[in-house]
Amino acid sequence: MKVERSTAQWREMDAAHHLHPFSDTTSLNEQGVRMITHAEGIYLWDSEGNKILDGMAGLWCVNIGYGRKDLADVAKRQMEELAYYNTFFKTSHPAVVELSQLLAEVAPPGFGRVFYTNSGSESIDTMIRMVRRYWDVKGQPQKKTLIGRWNGYHGSTIGGASLGGMSYMHEQGDLPIPGIVHVEQPWHYKHGKGMTAEAFGTLAASWIEDKILEIGADNIAAFVGEPIQGAGGVIIPPDSYWPEVQRICRKYDILLVADEVICGFGRTGEWFGQQHFGFTPDIFTIAKGLSSGYLPIGAVLVNDDVAATLAAGGDFNHGFTYSGHPVAAAVAYANVKALRDEGIVAAVHDDTGPYMQKRWHEAFSGFAHVDDIRGVGLIQAFTLVKDKASQTLFDNWGEIGLMCRDIFFQHGLIMRACGDHIVSAPPLIISKAQIDEMISTAVQCMQIFEQKLKERGLA
Ligand code: PMP
Repeated sequence: MKVERSTAQWREMDAAHHLHPFSDTTSLNEQGVRMITHAEGIYLWDSEGNKILDGMAGLWCVNIGYGRKDLADVAKRQMEELAYYNTFFKTSHPAVVELSQLLAEVAPPGFGRVFYTNSGSESIDTMIRMVRRYWDVKGQPQKKTLIGRWNGYHGSTIGGASLGGMSYMHEQGDLPIPGIVHVEQPWHYKHGKGMTAEAFGTLAASWIEDKILEIGADNIAAFVGEPIQGAGGVIIPPDSYWPEVQRICRKYDILLVADEVICGFGRTGEWFGQQHFGFTPDIFTIAKGLSSGYLPIGAVLVNDDVAATLAAGGDFNHGFTYSGHPVAAAVAYANVKALRDEGIVAAVHDDTGPYMQKRWHEAFSGFAHVDDIRGVGLIQAFTLVKDKASQTLFDNWGEIGLMCRDIFFQHGLIMRACGDHIVSAPPLIISKAQIDEMISTAVQCMQIFEQKLKERGLA
């Protein structure tokens, strides 16, 4: 956008006309928004000329980093050649066909078929319809209920928000919809005190079995989970969790769905989170890193059994005007190819991921109010705690997290507070020197934070 206005003008216009997602409009408009005007690599700039290190890759999505001219060129070329055509009318186009084949190449074996959406939430809603359709076609239409997890996040549509386990979302709009139930999350620190990681992982998986037995396996369609809960605060389950979840789903003939919207496309150092944890879902959802956020696109990948069953049912009455949008597909293709051919995912696995985890653990372990330091690849977090020795959390969950997050913001570093979890997921192209820069700013901020806690009598 080349319109030149002052920051104050933009703020005024934004407050007058723009409703922001997940925001308290009144207080946001009082404070005024921060205008982000351009970005390059891992850095953003605001309208006042401040340079900001984006430790969140936007919203966990700009895996390839900002400012890739080649992706812009691909979009321009595709717009000129075929800006739009649908994939409903027995028609297809080169961009979507090329992307589908490339996804089949980078996906784990057996996931050769893909259905397109425009976002993670749409992928989740598509998956819910697919799962229910699957059991209809199999002659078991009563298998309808999906199991999600408390503190899971699966988007903001009615289906996605229902399946997610965010009670503050459920409170608005009479959610969850019928046919969706939840089990507790596998957060060892809070729910498995005194247990070994392995024992806790098995216990947390058994909560799914308990729920299946409560409702009856004949009524359960699928279990759905993020390999690592992202928006819930980077909850990394013990290694024993996912293989046990898989065993339980197979035992009761229940579809296993991985929501790879954050974990996909290299975040953990593997292409998909399921590969990091060593399990094989039947269906998985993607978005975000698929195009590195350059254009909106999401998808659902299904295994051969799901694909064949849906096909046996004839028409699947579902789709979006922009399913497989040519420009989004062309950009996603160029992005995925670059993540692979430039060795970006491989670098997270072999080099920058392990380096980040080492630096992250070393840098924060000495702080009095930081505990449960954790991470994989380039996704990491720690939790702000009142007392480390007794593992006591602060009283008003989220209040201290926001205070800490604001200090990072003021010092040119974006990390996010999910409750009192402080989380980070930078672009995958971050270098070791940039990791050092990020950690050193974060450490300074944490010193300021702990000082503030003392001043306010909170520590
Ligand atoms: N699933 C997961 C795991 C997510 O993290 C998100 C978004 N943060 C979504 C689904 C929803 O994606 P979108 O915001 O693109 O609808």
